[in-house]
Amino acid sequence: MDEWQLKMAQLVRHGHKDRVRFLESGLIRSVLPTQLARIRQNDKTVLKELVLPPWLDWDTLYEWSFRVKPTESGTECILCNKNARRGTTFENKFICDECLFKIRGMQ
Ligand SMILES: [Zn+2]
Repeated sequence: MDEWQLKMAQLVRHGHKDRVRFLESGLIRSVLPTQLARIRQNDKTVLKELVLPPWLDWDTLYEWSFRVKPTESGTECILCNKNARRGTTFENKFICDECLFKIRGMQ
């Protein structure tokens, strides 16, 4: 068991299964790919843009960023609310390629 797994096991032992679930699947939905990259770079200014639960400290978030696989879950598109792997971020809002093509087509 590595450090991260130990941390997760500890949370479960303290009755915080919901926190483990949040770290494993919920959190990635509120973090954009660009923000994830900044967390990995240890750029704490990203905290101003994220809405995180009070129990989540930077060290855990930093470790999490290397654990999570954004390509699997994707990011939620603000227009169609579908999880997409490919897209563009405008002013911290994620728009999937599909919607982007539609918007471009209308112009
Ligand atoms: Zn979309």
